[in-house]
Amino acid sequence: MAPRPSSESLDFDFAAFDRDVMATYARSPIALVRGAGCRVWDSAGRGYLDFAAGIATCTLGHAHPALIEAVTRQIGRLHHVSNLYYIPEQGALAAWLTARGAGERAFFCNSGAEANEAAIKLARKYGRTRLGIARPAVISALASFHGRTLAAVTATGQPRYQQDFAPLVPGFHHVPFNDFPALVAAIATLDRDERTVAAILLEPLQGEGGIRPGDPTYFAQVRALCDERGILLMFDEVQVGVGRSGTLWGHEQLGVKPDVLTLAKGLAGGLPIGAMLCRRSCDVFGPGDHGSTFGGNPLVCAAALAVLQTLEQDALIANARDRGEQLRAGLRGLAAGLHGKIAEVRGWGLIVGVELGADQPRSAAELARAAQLEGLLTVPAGPRVLRLVPPLIVSAAEVDEAVAILARVLG
Ligand SMILES: *Cc1c(COP(=O)(O)O)cnc(C)c1O
Repeated sequence: MAPRPSSESLDFDFAAFDRDVMATYARSPIALVRGAGCRVWDSAGRGYLDFAAGIATCTLGHAHPALIEAVTRQIGRLHHVSNLYYIPEQGALAAWLTARGAGERAFFCNSGAEANEAAIKLARKYGRTRLGIARPAVISALASFHGRTLAAVTATGQPRYQQDFAPLVPGFHHVPFNDFPALVAAIATLDRDERTVAAILLEPLQGEGGIRPGDPTYFAQVRALCDERGILLMFDEVQVGVGRSGTLWGHEQLGVKPDVLTLAKGLAGGLPIGAMLCRRSCDVFGPGDHGSTFGGNPLVCAAALAVLQTLEQDALIANARDRGEQLRAGLRGLAAGLHGKIAEVRGWGLIVGVELGADQPRSAAELARAAQLEGLLTVPAGPRVLRLVPPLIVSAAEVDEAVAILARVLG
């Protein structure tokens, strides 16, 4: 089905936007004004198949009836009260998540960076109070992405996000991803003077770093090392969690469980939420240790519950797995015909990366722009990887349509 023109066409003043809004993003020159399912329309009435999904966030696509119903019902009843009081929807969300193996205790905030900040604070207090470490350190991976707040950007293993923001936060160290001997060596170096490492923070699949899946052997070795040393293993599943990987949690792909798990992007289908969950034995937080005015308010928790109930009722995790396989098979078919233009197609479920080959002169950002002109929204993941992260409701016909557009764009 070709993108349909919309009857709606609005004047949008791009220059006024650029005058009034800080230029923290290199925005595509379209203004999106409406969505339905896996499609969105811009102010000029052009339609797009949305394989960006608000950066892997709109789990149920756009204008999903379950989300509309939950949000309108909740905002008409009670939308915000603060965490000075008990919030039934927050309790129900925590119960849903813990009943399905995300951890045993939950803390709610508003974003992925905040979820990781909460995890880092938990790790420091755990290190100080349970492990007796005076200056608890966190190890994370090179090429990782953990968010833009100061501690999260310090944990992020990519200098391009850190330059100009020094001094960064002390107590962070980076190791190559999927390299166990390098991790062992780094811990030995840090331990030479005194024991310092309280936690290891990893993405089961590196998202912004180029859709790089973790190696199950590496993760099993890291788990065993953490168990042996009492180090917390923390997984950042802000992008890969909540069904996108084809399993509810990304770490199910690796067969390794964390002590601490962070979630955000897809959890409330596009309403702002973050969550940090941990095993009961790791929960060292007490009153006053951490907080968030908006975190886990009735509105976002009602939205998250609607997303999670729909995931189960509509078997969307199985859909993520099947449509993901279809998408990767279609792209691998393209790669076979486009000698050297696609180096690799990889990912889990509906988080798919197309690594560009040596014979592809254009960057991922240029290809994303070209795909947009053809009516397909995608997101680069670094300079040489095109990321495809459609809503989990995507249909087989929509996957075929995206592959057909990418055949024209990549060829
Ligand atoms: C997007 C992302 C974050 C940051 O989330 P925000 O909501 O933008 O703060 C952290 N970790 C990972 C793995 C992400 O993909």
